[in-house]
Amino acid sequence: MLKKTSGSDDGHAQGHDHTHDPLEEGAALRVRALEEIVVAKGLVDPDALDSIVEYYERVTGPRNGAAVIARAWTDPEFKDWLLNDGTAAISSMGFSGVQGEHIRAIENTDEVHNVVVCTLCSCYPWPVLGLAPAWYKSPAYRSRVVREPRAVLKEFGLEIPSAVQVRVWDSTAEVRYLIVPKRPAGTEKMSAEELAQMVTRDGMIGTAAL
Ligand code: FE
Repeated sequence: MLKKTSGSDDGHAQGHDHTHDPLEEGAALRVRALEEIVVAKGLVDPDALDSIVEYYERVTGPRNGAAVIARAWTDPEFKDWLLNDGTAAISSMGFSGVQGEHIRAIENTDEVHNVVVCTLCSCYPWPVLGLAPAWYKSPAYRSRVVREPRAVLKEFGLEIPSAVQVRVWDSTAEVRYLIVPKRPAGTEKMSAEELAQMVTRDGMIGTAAL
């Protein structure tokens, strides 16, 4: 079982759980200790670290991915481009950089539901989704979602009908995935800006429906 906790993680907007991994907390403590040492030794400028953290916390993030998805829903030509050459289509909107060198967009349909993992570590498309949530990096998610994806998705509150195929995509250092969720029914008159508000981070990982 994934251990569930509540918290302030942004995936909670729709009541989704995330895992709280004790190993992750250990790693965070070690990172903080290392940071204090390299700053004390004058090897790293703390302002430089702050600006990197600021970039990944504020400039990039799931709102970028949401803008890409909303455009794909409203612009069929862009959607074709996105599905055929995700990296180029995404970069045309200004979203590129580290961990975005090769992004493949995969579309959810009535027949197939897609979900993303990195079984090896925590590869994640930073330019469109920001930094990965803790549960994405947890050993429990990484090992279980490939073995029993339907059970794991159910724990996220997402029950996939047996007629729908579930496909799990394993990210690597070479290719990261962005899931294009199904456009919700009844949104035909909405603008891309309004649609973008409906797109969640977990929807673009495949652990939530919209
Ligand atoms: Fe990885």
